Amino acid sequence: MPLKISFWGCTGSIPSPINTEQLRKKLTDTLWATKDTKFSNKQSVCEFINKLPFHQRGTYKGNTNCVQIHSAEDIPIFCDAGSGLRTYADSLPEFPEPRTYHIFLTHLHWDHIQGLSFFKPAFQAGNKIIIHTLHHEAEDAVRRLFSVPYFPIDYDQLDADFEFDIRKDGASFEVGSLEIKTLKQDHPNHSWAFRFETGGKAVVISTDCQHANNAAKDLNYPFLKFFNKSDLLVFDGQYAYNQSAKKNNIWGHSDIATAVELAARAKVKQLIITHHEPANNDATIHQSLAFAEKQAQELATELNYQTTYPNNIILAYDGLKIEA
Ligand SMILES: [Zn+2]
Ligand SMILES: [Zn+2]
Repeated sequence: MPLKISFWGCTGSIPSPINTEQLRKKLTDTLWATKDTKFSNKQSVCEFINKLPFHQRGTYKGNTNCVQIHSAEDIPIFCDAGSGLRTYADSLPEFPEPRTYHIFLTHLHWDHIQGLSFFKPAFQAGNKIIIHTLHHEAEDAVRRLFSVPYFPIDYDQLDADFEFDIRKDGASFEVGSLEIKTLKQDHPNHSWAFRFETGGKAVVISTDCQHANNAAKDLNYPFLKFFNKSDLLVFDGQYAYNQSAKKNNIWGHSDIATAVELAARAKVKQLIITHHEPANNDATIHQSLAFAEKQAQELATELNYQTTYPNNIILAYDGLKIEA
């Protein structure tokens, strides 16, 4: 089975859905774009919408971080438990069979754990939820999520069994046929990147990390080895192309130009930008794509590549599914 991932949440820091005013602007622009078009049926309307740029027909904004990694064994595996985890849970049938859910936590900031509070499987007896992480405060953090005055239901009242698989720095994990490696990242109170491998394919998830100026040019930079020749790299693009992460470095995030530079030098096949800055609107996020593609082409020339790495750059949105 090919290695696939699904995005349930792509916004950094705090959920940030578009508001009525922003939706109205999209509708106005779209209706104006149809002024010379006659539609004969709904299908032709759908075809017209499909040709619109993504920031006009859709939105990058919404839930906080949650990526599902689809295993050959059909085990539910997630990286991070932001508010997108609730949307996943809402997609389940009303009374699903009891299962074991695996949730890898990069770190414990709100935007990576807040979805657990509304994760329906936590309220169903017979389920087991295994939290895999390198943060030794994980159990304490999850207990505090389910406690007064923040939440009406106490951790000890949850019907599912929680298990905490907490490892030391440098550890690797195995779930089903997936082998998972880890790398410590520079972020307030630290975060970890995960590399998921199976059947010769690799997906790396690396958000919530800041990189020093010119770090990508150091051949010994550990991230180059960790990302090396991965099929999919899911990367922290909190700041758009014209917004430097360096100016905002108290938050410990990265930017889209850094994403492209690292992905190109590590010969990553597809780069997926996520953890979007909540203050950026869809148009601002979308504008970065053309700059990023141009930068990848320029780097291919500079590095004497026969092909461009990354050969596909995608701005993630809630609902995106992609295959390695
Ligand atoms: Zn975050
Ligand atoms: Zn964080």
